[in-house]
Amino acid sequence: MTVRERAKAIEDKIIAWRREVHRHPELMLDTVKTAALVSSALREMGIEVREGVGGNGVVGLLRGEAPSTPGEAIRTIALRADMDALPVKEETGLPFASEIPGLMHACGHDAHVAMLLGAAKILSDMRKEFRGNVKFIFQPGEEGAGGARLMIEDGCLEDPRPDAIIGAHVGSLWNVGNGQAGFRPGPLMAASDRFEIFIQGKGGHGAAPHASVDPVVVGSHIVTALQTIVSRAISPTEPAVVTVGVIQAGTANNIIPDTCTMKGTVRYMKRDLGPYIKKRITEIACGVAAAMRAEAKVTYHFGYPPLVNDEDLTNRVRASAAKVVGEENVVTAGMTMGGEDMAYYLEKIPGTFFAIGTGNEAKGIMYPNHHPKFDVDEDVLYIGSAIFVQACLDFLGEEGPYLRK
Ligand SMILES: [Zn+2]
Ligand SMILES: [Zn+2]
Repeated sequence: MTVRERAKAIEDKIIAWRREVHRHPELMLDTVKTAALVSSALREMGIEVREGVGGNGVVGLLRGEAPSTPGEAIRTIALRADMDALPVKEETGLPFASEIPGLMHACGHDAHVAMLLGAAKILSDMRKEFRGNVKFIFQPGEEGAGGARLMIEDGCLEDPRPDAIIGAHVGSLWNVGNGQAGFRPGPLMAASDRFEIFIQGKGGHGAAPHASVDPVVVGSHIVTALQTIVSRAISPTEPAVVTVGVIQAGTANNIIPDTCTMKGTVRYMKRDLGPYIKKRITEIACGVAAAMRAEAKVTYHFGYPPLVNDEDLTNRVRASAAKVVGEENVVTAGMTMGGEDMAYYLEKIPGTFFAIGTGNEAKGIMYPNHHPKFDVDEDVLYIGSAIFVQACLDFLGEEGPYLRK
């Protein structure tokens, strides 16, 4: 039986898990029910379970039982899924739509949980056929709370320490077609930082601007000047984004307000660009404000780091995926400037994050991730499980310690 056939044989189970999780979305770090579902499913498979990791995370550990020679280096590979939903009001009309008002699995993390449980089920049934360990990491808080960081701080990468880590995301992200898998060695997703600029002007009558310091005009100049960070201060060959998404000031058409507040996001692919962009934003905001007799204060928050895939492991998992879906369905994923906290694991351990194409226009599944009508083609989910399993078997099947090229 091929791995794909094994996965196909439990497809109903995988879809049932997905629907169960989809019905009960949970936000950020509060993935209590989802964690309970995951824990009990893993226990039923005879997998060691550690609960409450980094809050509501779950770590499963499966030890292969194929005989190994004494003293032989045993490898460990980790598979990761995120479990959190979004504050989105679901509009899919699905029979198993969210039962929690205002919350929805609109990023497909329900599918990630189901695919990983599917992989755990297949591998647990095959434990006599491989040596080494598989760690299953189910984390909360991907959508902004940095659940991965909390899991790492709580030791999810210790005891045993994985030699490699793999994660995947569903959707029609990165231009990956239905049933296809998309890989990219090196940088795949961006760091996502945020900033706030507070401008202190001097309010007054709208008809007497000379007697005020207008923070709206100052803010407008700052927004314009910030555009020069990407266009004039960073190499044109380096992807980066500085976006001001919020400007708040004023109450009436004829009043010059006292203050103006702006908020924005910053994206980049190379880690050392972060401090540089922070410096430029601060210099520009404070400099422009000072030139116009106002004062600016900048607050900058570093968020998820850039997501960088290990070249060797990406190529290995890509080869494993080709065994499952065929060479013609393994494609090169494009970079995106979206953020993803899988990046934290990849800073610690070599690994790869890849895309599984679950869009399907013929079935009306064509909305982007985070959309109220976002859905995944459930017929693809078992393929995700199969790729995870094949990658584990290939990685653990090699002799000796994992020596990076
Ligand atoms: Zn998302
Ligand atoms: Zn996501």
